[in-house]
Amino acid sequence: MLALTAIGSGCVQGGGAERGGGAGSPGPESGAAAPPAGPADAADAADARREQASRLRAERTARIAAAWRWGLKKVPLTAPAPPAQKPRITTRDGFEVDDHEELGLPPVFTRIPTRQKVVFLTIDDGAEKDPAFLRMMSELKVPYTAFLSDYVIDDDYAYFREMQKRGVTLNNHTLNHPYLPGLSYRKQRHEICGMQEVLREKYGKRPALFRPPFGNYNRDTLIAAKSCGVTYAPLWAEEVFVDRWEYREWDRDLHPGDIVLSHFRGKGHWKGTMPDMIRRFLNKVTEKGYAVARLEDYL
Ligand SMILES: [Zn+2]
Repeated sequence: MLALTAIGSGCVQGGGAERGGGAGSPGPESGAAAPPAGPADAADAADARREQASRLRAERTARIAAAWRWGLKKVPLTAPAPPAQKPRITTRDGFEVDDHEELGLPPVFTRIPTRQKVVFLTIDDGAEKDPAFLRMMSELKVPYTAFLSDYVIDDDYAYFREMQKRGVTLNNHTLNHPYLPGLSYRKQRHEICGMQEVLREKYGKRPALFRPPFGNYNRDTLIAAKSCGVTYAPLWAEEVFVDRWEYREWDRDLHPGDIVLSHFRGKGHWKGTMPDMIRRFLNKVTEKGYAVARLEDYL
């Protein structure tokens, strides 16, 4: 049904826009409202309301057209407004290190506590730098959060600058993607804090989010991360690949607030493109009635 709407909207987009403008412009409405109310303010307010309505219509039309263009089964759901009060983020049971809370170490979690039907998309490493992916995400207006490793992004920092310009937060995933628990505190600190500095130098700020490679960490990892400004260590509840989903929970399902992991990978790494992976991600998320929200809005 939505696909049909999409075709319709896509074909008559110009006509639709014109019709929208036409309905708004012939004076009778504003003419009728203005004289009794007197002040120009009322007419201005009516104009503003009409503009707002027509902008929302245009955005909706663009979203349907984008979903159609990028081959999605359904139009992605729009995320609800984030909660006025941010949820309290705590470390998932069984994921604590000694003195975790006492030392004020970054919480390690796989889900944001919320009742809203939203999930969060996080994408790691940075090997694949596909311009089509940037376009797709902007056109669909799907938010995501990046976790970057220097050794795969250092051949093209500009790609991620463009991503940042489009509203994506660039976070820390170490310099060289090592198995951190196998390293001394000093070496871990170099991997994590060194990446904070790269991100500050290349993109203007030291991020608050850090994700340990492979999801492996120990107490030293979190102490090191905290020492250079990291306040959250999000892991993930599901991982999406170009050809499948993998689940942390036994029920193999999505839950409100789940953090989903994927990777910047292309045809050299798996059987498809970044847009192919996003199609697999969005088709399931939308089908299950979830919207994709911005992780930073909940932290
Ligand atoms: Zn990684």
